[in-house]
Amino acid sequence: MTTDTCTYLIVGGGIAGVSCAQQLSFEEPSEDIVLVSAGSMVLQTTAVQVTRLAHELQVQEVSGHQLTDLCPGLRLKQATATRLDAKDKVLHLSDGSSVRYGRLCICTGGRPRLPLPDHPAVIGIRDGHSVDELVRRLGPARRVLIVGNGGIASELVFTLKDVDVTWVIRDGSISATFVDPGAAEFLLPRLESRDQQPAAADATVAVPAPPSKRWRYHASDPPSSEGGQGDPSVPGSALGPDWLQRLQARGAGKGRVTVKYKTELRRLVNRPNDPNDSEQWPVYAELTSGETIGCDFIVSATGVLPNTEPFTEGTSLRLAADGGILVDDHMRTHETDVYAAGDACSPDWELAPHWFQMRLWSQARQMGLYAAKCMSADRLGVPLLQDFCFEMFAHVTRLLGHKLILLGLFNGQRLGTDYTALIRMTPGVEFIKVVLRDGKVQGALLLGDTDLEETFENLILSQMDVSHLGDDLLSPDVDIEDYFD
Ligand code: FAD
Repeated sequence: MTTDTCTYLIVGGGIAGVSCAQQLSFEEPSEDIVLVSAGSMVLQTTAVQVTRLAHELQVQEVSGHQLTDLCPGLRLKQATATRLDAKDKVLHLSDGSSVRYGRLCICTGGRPRLPLPDHPAVIGIRDGHSVDELVRRLGPARRVLIVGNGGIASELVFTLKDVDVTWVIRDGSISATFVDPGAAEFLLPRLESRDQQPAAADATVAVPAPPSKRWRYHASDPPSSEGGQGDPSVPGSALGPDWLQRLQARGAGKGRVTVKYKTELRRLVNRPNDPNDSEQWPVYAELTSGETIGCDFIVSATGVLPNTEPFTEGTSLRLAADGGILVDDHMRTHETDVYAAGDACSPDWELAPHWFQMRLWSQARQMGLYAAKCMSADRLGVPLLQDFCFEMFAHVTRLLGHKLILLGLFNGQRLGTDYTALIRMTPGVEFIKVVLRDGKVQGALLLGDTDLEETFENLILSQMDVSHLGDDLLSPDVDIEDYFD
């Protein structure tokens, strides 16, 4: 049995692990850095800056060699971590070898949280293999049941063609992880016209139509039909932003989407004894509404559980209620010289008023980069202030064909009912929501090409009082970009 030695050891070839390894190689190119990855391919990101804090990411799967060629001091070991001996600072691997480290960073991501026991008809979407499996099953499929209401489920429902989709969501509106009921209403027509591009992307739309709806509501108001606030409580690498491009397969159904609101999947059942139902389905699901639905297969996209097993037995690592490894403001775990980043960890520091954790690729990258800086600073004994990216939540993505930028407390997170929201909507073009408290902007949700991201980022970070503007903050006649310059 061989034991390797290195200054820095990183486990996980996803966005967090690779960002950490690249940054360490940049900080200390002459040190020995080892990246342990379960697969031969790793995820490399390129970030395009959108605002000071928000970046649009391009994620690429590259071979380990491509990565190590560009990163001095970095070596790749293809194996799985099986056990951590934190006392002797040794990590044991699946191939029987082990690595003695100076500092270790755990970036092992998460695995799908399945709502059901393992069943061949249930697929959990997480990595390339699970998407390939989905494509394979899609060909002959007539009906698919999708469970979950986050980004993955939303994009799947939007992307799957020629197959009937029954979308089971426990909320009262679609895509509730990212958007509120008002924005969901804006998105709904996109589900009905899934083969068309959004109006904002249509080159013939030179001058956007004027907003047809503008309104203001307070979070404690009862829900209104005009976009008012609803319920306030709202082992491969995870895929990168381009994962949907793999999903080019079409099914054998008619392409209808049925949304089952405020419903969850209760259990799988045998074929019901219904004389009116002549169709045979490979699997039947019973919903909490009492309805039973037959389908070809079920896709579970209900979030992830952090991968922490190999590291917890016999160590002092502590886990958060959501299963993530607790880390302090230097990404340090409770074990000496052991750090964690990305989906595998949970923050255990006093969070800035406008930042919170969401297991997204933007945060995996930020945490990976910052963990590397912390590991190096700690080893060299130099002080390091917490990275500015943890000052405010910022995320850029696409949702149902629209650009989506989320800033600060974009859904009134942590504010309870103590906030007011201003909304501007031009159907098919843009949906803007600004969250205000005490006359100051706390968050913003920008759907479509609004060009307002820098302005609202500045207003959230500066906490400038904008109460004198009243509802004009979102008036199309007021050029707020110039106003706040
Ligand atoms: P991962 O990418 O999961 O990487 C973990 C790595 O650790 C993998 O290489 C794995 O092989 C390795 N590993 C695990 N255990 C071991 C072990 N014991 N030994 C060695 N190696 C191990 N985020 C967004 O921001 N926007 C989206 O629209 C979005 N859509 C998504 C769609 C899908 C289908 C999925 C699955 C995720 C999506 N996410 C999205 C989430 C995002 O992909 C993750 O938050 C992010 O990739 C997490 O990165 P990570 O490096 O922490 O973990």
